[in-house]
Amino acid sequence: MNPLSRLPSVDRLLSAAALSSLIELHGRAVVTATAREVLAATRAAFKQEAVLPAEDELIAKVGAGVTAKMTPKLRPVFNLTGTVLHTNLGRAPLPEEAVQALLTAARSPCALEYDIESGGRGDRDDIVNELLCELTGAEAATVVNNNAAAVFLLLNTLTPRKHVIVSRGELIEIGGAFRVPDIMQRAGAKLVEVGTTNRTHLKDFAEAITPRTAMLMKVHASNYAIQGFTHAVPEAELAELAHGKGLPFVVDLGSGTLADLARWGLPHEPTPAEAIAAGADLVTFSGDKLLGGPQAGLLVGRKDLIAKIKKNPLKRALRVGKLTLAALEAVLALYRDPDRLHLRVTAVRQLTRPEAEMRAAAMRLLPALQAALSGLPVTVEIVALKSQIGSGSLPVDRLPSAGFAIRPQGKRGGVLNRIEAALRGVAHPLRPVIGRIEDGALLLDLRCLDIADEPEFLASVAALGQPRC
Ligand SMILES: *Cc1c(COP(=O)(O)O)cnc(C)c1O
Repeated sequence: MNPLSRLPSVDRLLSAAALSSLIELHGRAVVTATAREVLAATRAAFKQEAVLPAEDELIAKVGAGVTAKMTPKLRPVFNLTGTVLHTNLGRAPLPEEAVQALLTAARSPCALEYDIESGGRGDRDDIVNELLCELTGAEAATVVNNNAAAVFLLLNTLTPRKHVIVSRGELIEIGGAFRVPDIMQRAGAKLVEVGTTNRTHLKDFAEAITPRTAMLMKVHASNYAIQGFTHAVPEAELAELAHGKGLPFVVDLGSGTLADLARWGLPHEPTPAEAIAAGADLVTFSGDKLLGGPQAGLLVGRKDLIAKIKKNPLKRALRVGKLTLAALEAVLALYRDPDRLHLRVTAVRQLTRPEAEMRAAAMRLLPALQAALSGLPVTVEIVALKSQIGSGSLPVDRLPSAGFAIRPQGKRGGVLNRIEAALRGVAHPLRPVIGRIEDGALLLDLRCLDIADEPEFLASVAALGQPRC
């Protein structure tokens, strides 16, 4: 007799108590499909190994398979990497006002492209146009999916088959494959590089202008700094040169905060208002970097140029939805009260959090972390750390912070990787904890751990228990 005929049927597996409760929870379809997959895999494995698992084992496999499928992929995590605006972890966490606005817009029909006063058709950009103009000093604004889309759309509208002059020192790559030269090429613009990597002068730009030139562009060198013997042309001089030749001057700011963060001890980051005041005709920046809002690309500047950009059919392909606009409007509104940004805009609050707060959190949390790691060949101590802003902002400056350093006793470094993986691997609905390994230590920077989230963090740590090291 074929031993495979001893395998239980799908129906028999589904009648097991453990699987009935999963059917109750998730429905019959997914449990049945998973049972079929497990049985097929078992038959395939039998051909190689000639052994059949016991029925209990099959049931456990089906259960684990269903649970894995039904765990959301977009899981919330604790960002203890020390990088506040972490692109791979979703950049800026939204302020509560934005979360509420987003939920309301999600649940209810809303006046997205509808003019309530006239009852006629509206323009979705009007939801944030006034706020953006007020906060940047621009004449008009439009919003697209992200800053890469904003740069693409502006080039595609204003420069097809014409030349864009950019300093060689600004031909940057932003993580996740945004390369200025590639975007230009795809947008149909021809890049003209001037100057050298470290020094570019006004005359380099002036000499490169020809009848085929469409614009002068400045790209904020977000994620790196050129130091030492350097020179870049100030925006006001580039604007004057461009305007003298009847050309627009455009600035891709990247992060572009709307407030002067220096008042909270952060380094000065150029603002769209400064670029506009210096004579820029268009400025683009991200919604989810220092601004602290949802993913979006904001374009502000001259009314005629914005109008032209909005007429490009690609605007329709790159536009944002109501959820983004709801969150963006709420975050921008917070900037009308610049004195309290450090309390109300989550990203700004995290960036300006005093070191003493992280140190106090470390003291509160240390005993639980020590208990969870007891019995493992590691030491845990509270250490001073340096957080980073992230997302290409202010690449050189680091923020004093505090947290934990977990170090192996002796030379067994492998234990760190196992703890790091276990912290990441806690089961849903617990939140994975993401730290960083640096100089032979697993570092957990507490800057982005809200006090209100500490109990949930402790639950993740407790679940760590004793990883098999
Ligand atoms: C971050 C950045 C971009 C890309 O912005 P996204 O919002 O991530 O699309 C483009 N240019 C500069 C200078 C940047 O810093």
